Amino acid sequence: MRWLGDHAIRWMPGESNCPNTLCLIVTSDRLVAVDSSGLPLKILPNDPRIRDRRKNVVGTINDILYKFVCLETPSSDFEYELLRPVLIRLNSEEFIPLNAAMQVMDFMQEHRYCGSCGDKTHPSKSDRGLICQGCGHASYPRISPCVIILITREREILLGRSPRFIEGMYSTLAGFIEAGESAEHACHREIFEEVGVEINAPIYQGSQNWPFKHSLMLGYRAEWKKGDISVDGIEIVDAQWFSIDALPKLPPKASISRGMIDQFLSEQNRLN
Ligand SMILES: [Zn+2]
Repeated sequence: MRWLGDHAIRWMPGESNCPNTLCLIVTSDRLVAVDSSGLPLKILPNDPRIRDRRKNVVGTINDILYKFVCLETPSSDFEYELLRPVLIRLNSEEFIPLNAAMQVMDFMQEHRYCGSCGDKTHPSKSDRGLICQGCGHASYPRISPCVIILITREREILLGRSPRFIEGMYSTLAGFIEAGESAEHACHREIFEEVGVEINAPIYQGSQNWPFKHSLMLGYRAEWKKGDISVDGIEIVDAQWFSIDALPKLPPKASISRGMIDQFLSEQNRLN
């Protein structure tokens, strides 16, 4: 199954001996420097515009080690775009390093001080962590697991609208996993809370790392069991059963939600 293209791409987070390095440019308020095609700008570490800037390691993909430079304020040397519109037009090879860079940047900004004693932190010599200079407490980039669920009922799927969605778009339902909860429990709970229906056992489909913010989306498919749709009007403003022959505007191709919907459509179309 392919969400963003190709999970077989070899991605190695962290430092490597790879001789080829390219740098991404981001800002502390999550803008991305882009080229004339709207793709993330990738420049050599000795480019005069960033030569004296600190470079942070992201990871290696296809024999290129990616680093990023974080600008406190956008400099006039580059063109910028917001993260989300840039990300959703990318293929896997472009998506993975930018997504990872943004999450490492968020981590470094949000962990400048120790959460235990309040003293300053500094980068670990051996790994990605930040170490407190006072008490030695180590912090690592936070990953927050979410479940995202495609609910099916014969040739229909249940999709909902959050108030922050673009006009007319519907998506699969999602929510964070609570402390002490399994992913499967979270599927049952989220679905019941958001749309008031019950589902049969959810079946794992695949995952996507997603930087809004530091989420790991765990994708499940579940068949409807019983209940009529009822929404709270706040988190979910509308939810409906849609025939696969009459779908609304769907999430972008570079999302696990769309990946799961497209997979279901292709299975159904093979059956008919
Ligand atoms: Zn501390």
